[in-house]
Amino acid sequence: MTEALLVVDYTHDFVAEDGALTCGKPGQAIESKIVELCHSFKEADRVIVFPVDLHFREDPFHPESPLFPPHNIEGTLGRKLYGSLDHFYQENQDAVYWMDKRRYSSFAGTNLDQYLRERHVTTVHIVGVCTDICVLHTAVDAYNLGYQIIIHKDAVASFDPQGHEWALRHFETTLGAILK
Ligand code: ZN
Repeated sequence: MTEALLVVDYTHDFVAEDGALTCGKPGQAIESKIVELCHSFKEADRVIVFPVDLHFREDPFHPESPLFPPHNIEGTLGRKLYGSLDHFYQENQDAVYWMDKRRYSSFAGTNLDQYLRERHVTTVHIVGVCTDICVLHTAVDAYNLGYQIIIHKDAVASFDPQGHEWALRHFETTLGAILK
């Protein structure tokens, strides 16, 4: 069983106090757990992927444009990794596959499935934000593609407590995920 860690959207805009679309305190509270998981995957020489939302300024064609304020715009602070995860990335770029994504799911329109299969990955650990949006859509696609899923409860977060709790139940009862 080969395992990979997917750290979804842990950026300034989604986590920092002044982020454009922030999870706020619950998002900030998972920082050390995410970084701890990154270190342990690196030490075990396992696959680490950072799928990061990418938007362009004034993009009327993106389906999120009417739904959310502008966020994670190319080349802005908002798209920088949050806190000590950014330090981890700066020091361990060789150990991380940074992957731009354009939809909620890390698999939508990306080469992630191919990247994981080439490395014989069968189990994905999913962490990051938001539990009930990008983590959820990534988990649903992982399920449909046949991956085993592990969700670290103390390394996912949302601005919506009810959505967070609903998604945790959904991972376990509907996607067969292991909650750790
Ligand atoms: Zn977005």
